[in-house]
Amino acid sequence: VPPDEGNYYFNSYASSDIHQQMLNDRVRTEGYRDYIYENKDIFKGKTVLDVGCGTGILSMFAARAGAAKVLSVDNSDIIDKAGKNIAENGLENVITLYRGRIEEIKLPCKVDIIISEWMGYFLLYEAMLDSVLVARDRFLAPGGILAPSQTRILFTATSDESFLNDSVHYWNDVYGFKMSTMKENVLLEAVVDFVSPETLVTNTVTIKDLPHQTITVAGLDFVSDFELEMQRDDLLAAFVGYFDTWFTRDGKDVPLDVGISKEELQKHSMNGFTTGPVYTRSEETHWKQTMFVLQRPLELKKGDKVKGTFYCTKNTRNPRALDLRIVYEVIRVSGSSSSDDDKADLT
Ligand code: SAH
Repeated sequence: VPPDEGNYYFNSYASSDIHQQMLNDRVRTEGYRDYIYENKDIFKGKTVLDVGCGTGILSMFAARAGAAKVLSVDNSDIIDKAGKNIAENGLENVITLYRGRIEEIKLPCKVDIIISEWMGYFLLYEAMLDSVLVARDRFLAPGGILAPSQTRILFTATSDESFLNDSVHYWNDVYGFKMSTMKENVLLEAVVDFVSPETLVTNTVTIKDLPHQTITVAGLDFVSDFELEMQRDDLLAAFVGYFDTWFTRDGKDVPLDVGISKEELQKHSMNGFTTGPVYTRSEETHWKQTMFVLQRPLELKKGDKVKGTFYCTKNTRNPRALDLRIVYEVIRVSGSSSSDDDKADLT
């Protein structure tokens, strides 16, 4: 157990409301459901491990799809309710519950498929993927598959200044009072909120590709060079991060040039979903997007480039939190060399 964690993390998953919030995220829950129900042949007769079963929803999808046996693990009190949910739906002959941390739990056998919904804000916040990779190494039989099989962190930029206004300018006038000191360090924290697709001003690049079959826990800390190019004359007010999720039939990797569009998923017989900026409410997820807000928006022209490096490591004091750092410079088409103002180190 990480030193200062105690049961804080697992207690946060004990109540009904957090599970309702996740279940209500239809992109998320239907993403898993559709993969499982549309690929019943993969589940039929198989042994499935559900890492962090919560209410038991994914275990019940797998049982309904014809799994012979589902082993469902959770270390939160919610597992008592999962037991009742499973009994209420007459699935107790297929699904067996195990209370404990997946890192230490003893299970009776290896499994053919691991299903888990472990994704956090900016994909890696909460560090639950670490636990799923331990589960893979401990319990997945040779040739077994992980669902989802792959995730990818994407990076782009927005002209939307509202994030700066909400977190910084807000303090200029609070019921007629100035509170400048409250602004200090607020931009050091990423903002989790929705960004509108029409405010995106650059192309989108992949800063981390995670093939779950092979990636290691050490590989989850990463350094990634990026280059964004302005698509029009506009402000660049914040960098934007989000993730895409794939479920492949054989658990194998999706090539880097294959994206998450409906057409691509269909063409490659895959399931998946994005947590990126979308036009319709029904496609939004509870993960929203993650914004890294600049102190002062950059005024840029079409074709200007923002080149930099993205650093992501676990926080040393709280290993479920992330330390993110973006170092960048601006390369202007106008040729004027980038001024000091254009160089920044955003943490
Ligand atoms: N599968 C459910 C719940 C997902 S939330 C659903 O899709 O709705 C993640 C769950 O994983 C939480 O209930 C949490 O308690 C559990 N969990 C996280 N890390 C775990 C670990 N290391 N061992 C066991 N359970 C874990």
